[in-house]
Amino acid sequence: MMEYDSDQVAKLYFETSFLDDQSERECPACKSIAVRAYIWRHDGGSRTVLFSYAWCKHCRRFKGWTTADTGEFTFSDPIESLPEPEREIYRRGVAKLLPKLDKLWDEGELPQTFVRARSPKKRLGK
Ligand SMILES: [Zn+2]
Repeated sequence: MMEYDSDQVAKLYFETSFLDDQSERECPACKSIAVRAYIWRHDGGSRTVLFSYAWCKHCRRFKGWTTADTGEFTFSDPIESLPEPEREIYRRGVAKLLPKLDKLWDEGELPQTFVRARSPKKRLGK
């Protein structure tokens, strides 16, 4: 699996935030309408962070981000409800995680549903 380069990432996320539109979007590398995204929340004790992933089902390119959790959104997470040992496998890296996410997507468990928990201080993404 290859990572998207920075130009490709800019194309992926410039137009609309995934939080506002969860549909599959065009892959900047292979042009398939096959880019999916997934976010999980990690409570690190003193700090809560969001791990975000975007990947192309077709060419397998992907990108992962870590950002501070502003608490602006609540969302569903089908991985979170798995038993701990299984969940740990997926949390560890994209090689296991992304195929699992594709399966959940095809089963209708993904994309996630986002609910705006409170007004944002500023608009994300646009
Ligand atoms: Zn692609």
